[in-house]
Amino acid sequence: MQEPSRPGLRPLGMLGGGQLGRMFVQAAHAQGREVHVFSPDADGPAAQAADAHTAAGYDDLDAVRRFAASVDGVSYEFENVPAATAAACAEAGPVRPGGNVLAVAQDRREEKAFLEGAGVPIAPWAAVGSEAELAAAGRRLGFPCVLKTARGGYDGKGQRVLHDAAEVPYAWADLQPGDGREVPCVLEARVDFQAEVSVIAARDAHGGTVTWGPIANSHRNHILDVSAVPAGLGDALEAEAVAVAEQVVAAFELVGVLCVECFVTRSDASGPRILVNEIAPRPHNSGHLTIEAYELSQFAAQALCLGGGRLPSSPGLRRPAAMANLLGDVWGKGGEPPRWDAIAGREGVTVHRYGKAVARPGRKMGHVTALAGTAHEAVRNAVEARAALRA
Ligand code: AMP
Repeated sequence: MQEPSRPGLRPLGMLGGGQLGRMFVQAAHAQGREVHVFSPDADGPAAQAADAHTAAGYDDLDAVRRFAASVDGVSYEFENVPAATAAACAEAGPVRPGGNVLAVAQDRREEKAFLEGAGVPIAPWAAVGSEAELAAAGRRLGFPCVLKTARGGYDGKGQRVLHDAAEVPYAWADLQPGDGREVPCVLEARVDFQAEVSVIAARDAHGGTVTWGPIANSHRNHILDVSAVPAGLGDALEAEAVAVAEQVVAAFELVGVLCVECFVTRSDASGPRILVNEIAPRPHNSGHLTIEAYELSQFAAQALCLGGGRLPSSPGLRRPAAMANLLGDVWGKGGEPPRWDAIAGREGVTVHRYGKAVARPGRKMGHVTALAGTAHEAVRNAVEARAALRA
């Protein structure tokens, strides 16, 4: 490892080797900090950019302890960090966000109970542990409803919509591992939403809090496709989304970065409302546009919070922006790279490549961000840039 860039400062620690870890490393470097990445893969996106890397399994607690002892604090880029791994890191120094937030974010039952307890609005739900409980919960919540595994789902995996009671046995069997075990699930009322938005929030160890967004999100095949800011919901709903995120941050006494994903319901008698879908205790794909669109990005905030620094009072929106994900589908069928030259020098457009060697359909390989005069124009520019890459 190289000499620390500032005497007395050890590297920041990052658990996880993907693109979120890579962008954390880049942000930490911009603050003069080095980063030690811990991940099983020797040549992942974060390891490529890191100053030091430990290649070991998250369950190798001896390696985890050596890693934690070499850094000033540990953050992570995925929420399924095993509890024992986080606890081993916490023996040596701060883990941000803390184990309390991880435990809640890893289990949808804990998450919903926590949010309800904090007075945060969410859709009606029930914990279900068997087919019989699912049938009863379906009668209570009504159809359609959405069944999700309590643990381990992402990007729409581990969930299924039920349209009527006849689907109960199939839906239950669908989400079970099929080896005789029954994994716990939650059933949620299906929300009739007009939009999905996220608010990224950060809180430093001194209590300073900032939020980004709300950011408008559209998905394709359950994977985030395009994000844009401002979300264009109108002042009242946007303020409500921010207030809900601040409520979540306060309830956790968070230190670090967290994403709150929300539904904006369709208008009913009481008007459209913000309902929280889920939280992620880390920077989020929808916040990638904060790198160019704001003075302070979600990754810069993660590094600042971890290093004990103070957040500014506002992240400082520079211009409306949009982000379009580049999935493996943008690569040719034979793995031919996109036409990077086709968008080089486009005004306001920035490309991020994650350094993954193999492109597969659905795999997040990079993203483009476009800044423009309005969010609408930024979306058009980001989507056009992506299309030009494919051409
Ligand atoms: P999740 O894994 O919880 O983020 O869900 C993935 C996507 O499924 C969300 O972004 C929504 O588009 C959709 N979804 C999840 N839960 C619900 C729900 N209760 N009602 C309507 N749509 C949902």
